[in-house]
Amino acid sequence: HVLKARNLNPLFNALISSRTPEGIIGEATEAETRHTKGHAKSQIDGKTIVIKDNICTTDLPTTCGSAMLKGYVSPIEATVVKSLRENGAIVLGKANMDEFGMGSHSIYSHFGPVKRPPTNYLDDAPRSAGGSSGGSAAAVAADMCFASLGTDTGGSVRAPAAYTGTVGFKPSYGRLSRFGVIPYANSLDTVGILAKSVDDVASVFRAIDHPDSKDPTNLTKKSRSRIQALAEAYQVKRRKRRLRIGVPVEYNLAELHLPLRSAWKSTISHLIAQGHTVHAVSLPTTQHALQAYYILAPAEASSNLAKYDGVRYGHRADKDWSDDGVLYANTRGEGFGAEVKRRILLGNYSLSASAMDNYFLKAQSLRRLVIQDFNRAFAFTNPLTSGNEAEEEVTRPEQETVDVFLTPTTLSPAPELEHVINNTSPIDSYVNDVLTVPASLAGIPAISVPVKMLDDVVGMQIIGQFGDEDGVLEVAKMVE
Ligand code: GLN
Repeated sequence: HVLKARNLNPLFNALISSRTPEGIIGEATEAETRHTKGHAKSQIDGKTIVIKDNICTTDLPTTCGSAMLKGYVSPIEATVVKSLRENGAIVLGKANMDEFGMGSHSIYSHFGPVKRPPTNYLDDAPRSAGGSSGGSAAAVAADMCFASLGTDTGGSVRAPAAYTGTVGFKPSYGRLSRFGVIPYANSLDTVGILAKSVDDVASVFRAIDHPDSKDPTNLTKKSRSRIQALAEAYQVKRRKRRLRIGVPVEYNLAELHLPLRSAWKSTISHLIAQGHTVHAVSLPTTQHALQAYYILAPAEASSNLAKYDGVRYGHRADKDWSDDGVLYANTRGEGFGAEVKRRILLGNYSLSASAMDNYFLKAQSLRRLVIQDFNRAFAFTNPLTSGNEAEEEVTRPEQETVDVFLTPTTLSPAPELEHVINNTSPIDSYVNDVLTVPASLAGIPAISVPVKMLDDVVGMQIIGQFGDEDGVLEVAKMVE
């Protein structure tokens, strides 16, 4: 991996920074000794991991792909990184990304675009590695590391996985600590894992899935045991019958490219052949999820990014900063890229007094409806609302509910990078998130699994109820 990371990185621009080969090899040798002595710290002891550059590490800079944080080294280490290291994993480097996680193709990075490692010999022009965790996905696809961490706010782990032919998992909101993860939109940000197989992803997940009092939105030990007990009870019941797989009818969009449609159909046939049943289910609010997401995410971002003022962090403009307000304006003018500025403006607008009721509050109501859609459909009652009568939804008859949903991850296979850079408007890029944002708004687990098509690879998404990561991983293994 160390050699590959060094030799291949100039081709794909997957890493922004990496540790010295000596450091990595030293740790690998120690891990090997532990393995031979039978004292391995965990399943991932000695495995190399790449970390998205918005997750803080004390030994490498954390830039968020932005000029604003170029060279910034955090004094704290993210809990997820700390847990990886305690489990013996070796941090190899930091992954390139869309600035502050905003984007779908990893082209909005101050450090240049990520290129997808070719998935077949017929690839002519470089393709998009997806975004915003494109560097994390490319590093796995190019075999530069065993696994990588990304962040998924609206699809940023799943879409890059789909484009690069890797597995990308976004667990339920609150399972993986966000302490030390630089926020884009707090209520949606989720740490995710990319690797070559579902088992590899699961091994990393198990190592970092634990409570963390440093992150107030992280699930406590008590809620975790309650959720786990409910999930296990449901799984015991579920195993006594066939698996019911939902196909949300609203995801069958005219814009869905043929390879995705074919992969969807063949995956459905494959699951039916294994004895499971497939059901068309309506998730009516899904069609509004995208609009809600693009109001809520920029609103939270505009607030989060206010702290980059030239005083506390990173970049500071050096001209004319003695005048009132000029330091702030110049610093932000120079430090942020065009897409980040667009999101800040959008967010400030939808939070402004005259627009708040029509945009931000409406989007929040829509978010509730998206959650209700999912709650009505799943056989497993949402553990966050179960036991709370006021919140508990009127569910469908048991036989009309489903265990998981199966959908494509993206609308198309990886587009050509050239095309994305020159002929794609921001709105076109936003539209591509339509299949991933509903699970983000609902905070529920979702995974993208690669399915090989004739001359390319596409991603199939499995979405499960909150807390049912086991169910999602189990079905992912059937599809992989
Ligand atoms: N493409 C989406 C956005 O730009 C999702 C990004 C993400 O999940 N970080 O907001």
